[in-house]
Amino acid sequence: MAIWGGWERLGGSLFSPVSTVSWGPNRLDIFALGQDHALWHKWWNGSTWGGWERLGGVLISQPHAVSWGPNRLDIFAVGTDHALWHKWWNGSSWGGWESLGGVLTSPPHAVSWGANRLDIFATGTDHALWHRWWNGSSWGGWESLGGVLASPPSTVAWGPNRLDICAKGTDHALWHRWWNGSSWGGWESLGGVLISPPTAVSWGPNRLDIFAIGTNNAVWHRWWNGSSWGGWESLGGSVFSDVSAVARTSNRLDLFAIGTDNAVWRRWWNGSTWGGWESLGGSVFSPVSVESWGSSRLDIFAIGTDNALWHRWTDLGVECVRMHVKVLTNPTVSLATMISSMEQVYATAGLGVEVVSTENLNLPLLNDLDVGACTLGSTTAEQDQLFANRNNVGANEIVVYFVRSTVPAFNGCAAFPAGRPGAVVAQGATRWTLGHEVGHVLGLFHVNDNNRLMTGNGTANITNPPPDLVTSEVNTMRASNLSVGC
Ligand SMILES: [Zn+2]
Repeated sequence: MAIWGGWERLGGSLFSPVSTVSWGPNRLDIFALGQDHALWHKWWNGSTWGGWERLGGVLISQPHAVSWGPNRLDIFAVGTDHALWHKWWNGSSWGGWESLGGVLTSPPHAVSWGANRLDIFATGTDHALWHRWWNGSSWGGWESLGGVLASPPSTVAWGPNRLDICAKGTDHALWHRWWNGSSWGGWESLGGVLISPPTAVSWGPNRLDIFAIGTNNAVWHRWWNGSSWGGWESLGGSVFSDVSAVARTSNRLDLFAIGTDNAVWRRWWNGSTWGGWESLGGSVFSPVSVESWGSSRLDIFAIGTDNALWHRWTDLGVECVRMHVKVLTNPTVSLATMISSMEQVYATAGLGVEVVSTENLNLPLLNDLDVGACTLGSTTAEQDQLFANRNNVGANEIVVYFVRSTVPAFNGCAAFPAGRPGAVVAQGATRWTLGHEVGHVLGLFHVNDNNRLMTGNGTANITNPPPDLVTSEVNTMRASNLSVGC
């Protein structure tokens, strides 16, 4: 059950809709043009709001902010010369304004499908789609992707090196073009009669949901399920702003738009049905910007009739990992330390850790456990034998077995037999191993970053305790059927 905080006035004297981005749990960065045409920035650091920071520039479009990693921000906007301008935060300071050229007639839309990768799209004076990209070391030139467009593009990356772009054509239909990792597909008309730019969102690999306003001021929806397009579906409502959409987690969608009463309206998909339209009140006129830094969390922003920024948020509930501990050999770093370290990190994801039971197992033959190559989804006979011990364990609960060692020697291993989710942790493990292995069980993969819990370089090399979980990891963990209400 959603409980919304009241509307909070965050001040400012703004001239454009806002662009919001979150580079980690409980972090929000908001950008907009001021009445002075400069870029202005405000941020939430997890406990307080920073003041409005003026970042300069002479801009004529709504900015678009994107983050490709923790504490990294890239902001794009069109300048008075109609070129694309770029400014970035590298974690410690702001880079200057950089002109990226072009002659643009729409606000830019930036997307990142991986670390240090940026793709920027906008329409040109020829109504075609134009694309420029950063590959980690240099900018590619402007590439025309053709089309005859009458709206800014909306872009989504549902996986590494995958891009889907949609826009309204001059014929008022929805048009779609995609990059599959090696080449561009042609422009595809998806029909409809749109009076607003489309908004595209993805809640999982090979899934697209597109929303726009139709001629009757209702919200219309079309989706790609991985193999075919569903037809246009009317979601009703009477709205005048562009539609904003967010996928908090797998198979969840939340839509926001301004109604003809100037209030913010929300409609959501719970995985099987659409709820009705819900008024969230307020007196605003800009399109809503919505951000979700955790699967239960929604933050919405809009410009009020007083030109100030307004904010409202909800937390849809804490979730827990229910864990059983089964000990063949106690670890050198105490169990209590491992569990409290895991709780510390998981709390940043809004996940509690419940130790449901603790049991000692006398299984000397499995105490130096053959884990083979420790490949997720594949187990040895010894792992199968050990993981059969699920006394007291309910569905959607995890078992962690503490053994003397694994063969070959790892700190732990999260490969488990189907239907028996769990992991093993060896005696010599670090304080972060438990949280790391359960992270794998919840669906996380290794990253090459020793600031993060999921570093693949060994948790002993973690450099900034407690290690980080990034927003996409938080969303994966909370979307797992092993994170449950508590
Ligand atoms: Zn690992």
